This record gives sequence, C-alpha cells and structure tokens, in this order.
Amino acid sequence: MPLTILFAASGEGWARYEAPLRAAFAEEGLDVTLGTDLAPESVDYIIYAPNSEVQDFRPYTRLKAVLNLWAGVEDAVDNPTLTVPFARMVDDEGLTQGMVEWVTGHTLRHHLGMDAHIVNPDHEWRHVAPPVSADRPVGILGLGELGTACGLALTRLGFPVTGWSRSEKTVDGITCLNGRDGLHETLSNAQILILLLPDTPVTQNTLNAETLAMLPYGAFILNPGRGPLIDDDALLAALDSGQIAHATLDVFRTEPLPRDHPYWDHPQVTVTPHIASETRPPSAARAIARNIRRNETGEPMLHLVDRDAGY
Ligand code: NAP
Repeated sequence: MPLTILFAASGEGWARYEAPLRAAFAEEGLDVTLGTDLAPESVDYIIYAPNSEVQDFRPYTRLKAVLNLWAGVEDAVDNPTLTVPFARMVDDEGLTQGMVEWVTGHTLRHHLGMDAHIVNPDHEWRHVAPPVSADRPVGILGLGELGTACGLALTRLGFPVTGWSRSEKTVDGITCLNGRDGLHETLSNAQILILLLPDTPVTQNTLNAETLAMLPYGAFILNPGRGPLIDDDALLAALDSGQIAHATLDVFRTEPLPRDHPYWDHPQVTVTPHIASETRPPSAARAIARNIRRNETGEPMLHLVDRDAGY
C-alpha cells in the first residue's frame, strides 16, 4: 500500500517541488501517493512550512511525522496539535551552500572595506590596504549545521574563527566555546560577528546593550539567523555611537521590514530581504525522502526538533 504524503507548504510552490519529490521518493524505493489535497485521515506524512494553511493537526489521525521545509521552526514548535515527531530541514546542501556564500561574501565586503572603493565620488586615493584575514578574528553565535559550515569556509580563507553553542563541541580549526563565559570571550574578540542561532525564548535579544558593548569598538555584525536575536534599539544606539561600524541584516522581527523602519535609511545598515539562503527543491526533496525512508525501515529519523529547547 503506498504511503500518503501531503505537501502542505503552498508558499514554497508545489510546482517547484512536485517533480523533485517524486524523483527522490522513487530513488529511495518508496511507493507514494503525493498531493496537496488529500483526506486528512489518510495522510501518513506531511511536508510542511510553518506558514501553511494547515495549523490544526488533529484531523490527521494516522500521521507519523511532519517534515519541515525550513531550517527555522519557531513558528510551529509550540503548536499544541503537532504532537508527532517534527523534523526540521537539515542536510539540504543547497541551503547550506547558499548560507556559506552569503556569509562569506558579506564578511569579505567588511573585511576588505569594499564600500570605500565602490562609492568614492570625490575620487580620493585611499591608499590603505586591508589587514589579512589572519588578523581579523570572526565570532559565530550558533555552531550548528549552518554556523559550522560558514565557520569552516571562513577558516579556509584564513580567518581565526570562534564559535559559540549551547552544548560543548569540537570542530577542527574552530575555537568552540559555550556558556556565559564562552559568550563573553567570543564577543570580546570578534571584529566580525555572525548570528546563526535559532529563535527560541532563550536566544531572543542575545545581542543587547550589554553584549554589544563586549564587542571590540568598530565591530561588524551579520545577522542571517533571526530578527529577535537582536534588541533593535540597542543596535541602533551602538551604530550611532560607532561601537558597531556596520550591521548587515537579513532577518527582522517583522518581515517584510516596514517601509518606515530606521534600518532602511541608516548609513551603517545593509538590509537584505531574508534571502541569505533558502531551501532548494532538489536537495531538500532528497533529504525529506531519505528521512521518511528511514522511519519506514525502522531507522531513527534525523534532525527531530527538541520541543523543550525550541529548535
Ligand atoms: P542548528 O543546526 O539547530 O544550530 C543552532 C545552533 O545554535 C547550535 O549550535 C545550537 O547549539 C545553538 N544554540 C541554540 N540555542 C542556544 C543557546 N541558548 N545558547 C547557545 N547556543 C545555542 O540550526 P542551523 O541549521 O544551523 O540554522 C540556524 C538558524 O539559521 C535557523 O534556526 C534559522 O533561524 C536561520 N536560517 C536563516 C536563513 C536565512 O535565509 N536567513 C536560512 C536558513 C536558516 P547546540 O549545537 O549545542 O545545539
């Protein structure tokens, strides 16, 4: 009997996903009935995005698991009707590669001081060479799937990288820290700070007036993680004082960022519209089919959300 799999992620585009999903299920040897409109009581798995029309999971009486197409789960993790195993998107090499490219590109922009040469209306001969990467310590808050991949890419370019996580970790080439002291140490050395934490009740406002002051004067911030990680008023004050030289922000508390938000016109802020990375249908479809096949053959599913931790 085929597995019945509901695609409940209309915002992600059924037309983009249907063919890659069918190919990936065939590759895993799974016989599936796949669609966007299936009787709830027949559904075995839901491929999901938190902005889906499906918010009440109670009618899905034989549901085995929900597989999220996004890495971030903050908008679904507290849903009291979502009681089956809930997997988030990891192992999508397209998503990871996109983030590595966004982080590397924006890190190099600030490291090399590119802006001074791209816009130079007075034709000034600014003969100041940038330091080499070995002299530019980078800090990454969140050393998970994406933070680790970005850290390793920056290490390969010669940047000394320190990463901070909740648990203790070892990653070759990266100084791994955790705890309150680890946060302090990571911040106090980071000339460029990258936020790749999930949005949980504990991580909100990780960057606030107190922690912004721990960074070296004139530090750069990149936030491709989540908007609530930053206290916006504290960041604007730190930008105005020069404590933070520039913030490149991809994610915001309210998205799209309201047109009258002070970030838009601030000369030391770059806004990118939540495009740092996105799930790529071919690689995401393979990750989802692999995880469902694991569950069907008695192997533990991968990347299940820890509801207590919130990610
Ligand atoms: P992940 O693998 O779950 O990694 C999260 C990292 O944050 C882990 O290292 C975790 O520590 C750490 N962490 C969580 N809570 C913490 C705490 N209280 N204190 C210290 N460290 C904490 O997630 P990911 O796949 O790397 O993704 C990270 C985030 O990127 C996502 O949650 C999402 O919000 C964002 N994202 C943004 C975009 C975009 O386009 N802008 C795209 C994809 C993802 P442990 O290692 O100890 O668990």
